[in-house]
Amino acid sequence: MIPHGVRLEPRKGVPLKNGIVRLPGPEPVSAPQTFAPLKKNAGPSRIIAAAEKAGIVDESDGMPLGKKLSRLARRGPGLLIARCFDEDPCTSSARAVFREDAEKVAAGLKLAARACGAEEKRLAVASRGEARRLRGLRLGIPAVVAGRRYPAGILLMRKLCRNGGRAAFLGAQACAALADAAREGKPQSETVVTVAGDGVRRPVNCRVRIGTPVEKVLRLAKPEEDVRIAAVGSAVAGRTVRDLSLPVTAATRCVIALRDAPPERRYPCIRCGRCARACPAGVIPWLVYRELESGDPDPLLFFHAGDCAGCRACNAVCPSGIDLAAEVRRAAARKEGGEG
Ligand code: SF4
Ligand code: SF4
Repeated sequence: MIPHGVRLEPRKGVPLKNGIVRLPGPEPVSAPQTFAPLKKNAGPSRIIAAAEKAGIVDESDGMPLGKKLSRLARRGPGLLIARCFDEDPCTSSARAVFREDAEKVAAGLKLAARACGAEEKRLAVASRGEARRLRGLRLGIPAVVAGRRYPAGILLMRKLCRNGGRAAFLGAQACAALADAAREGKPQSETVVTVAGDGVRRPVNCRVRIGTPVEKVLRLAKPEEDVRIAAVGSAVAGRTVRDLSLPVTAATRCVIALRDAPPERRYPCIRCGRCARACPAGVIPWLVYRELESGDPDPLLFFHAGDCAGCRACNAVCPSGIDLAAEVRRAAARKEGGEG
């Protein structure tokens, strides 16, 4: 069997033993609105209402948690998984949150599972070592180990749903925020962000108020003077921002500081097939690209382009520097629009 995904080059990340550093301020204009904590046996609708009142956003997909739980309740997720691992080598915010308070993440996952009627729960962790540590904590939720290949989330989901089962991910931070909302009636006002990359001297995991400018978060990690660009969300599939005054959101899992934009290079496709082997969605990016470049593309040959998950694993492996993810997205749009 071909192992899909890609092994990304290891990079110097943030040592987890350093914990999470708090970045103070900015103070909110008005005091955050707290609300009545939940009773111990609160039912699904009250849990969903608490997620809505707390304004929780799931950092794994940027969706409001209340809306996501309502949707899951309608389709029945089967298995609900807290995502306590990070996919790219620069980021460790999910692992740091899990290390800091695994009990809180587990409590939030239990509430979320009750809210949407999930039959099973799992804590997805980064390594066997983390799984052993979890067993020692006796939280009553089994671990599942995400592999080391990128994109680990999609690959794990495929493995767990191989026999037709249904499963859904929740971010570790969203789970912890749900536990806070239920226990203390506390709104989500902060998020944990990894600040790393070749443009900082002191990579760090920091807890910051949502809305803090990216620039201020970067300063905490002692940036080099020539940092002009940052990747926000993920080192592989995140978006690059040049305007560092933009605010951190609940979905900002990392800020990767770059001393310069990666060099633009694009050579002809050499048909090495790496992009097809890396793709977790069964797309054959080089074929899609060839078809688009032909000048008279046949949408029937855009093999599975509509299944693209946007992970950019194909870009990460392509030795010719082709932006295959963008090409596949373009092909999917053409197919959907019925354009030839
Ligand atoms: S990885 Fe790049 S060079 Fe190799 S087949 Fe795919 S598009 Fe072509
Ligand atoms: S971006 Fe799309 S085509 Fe490329 S590897 Fe990911 S799922 Fe496959």
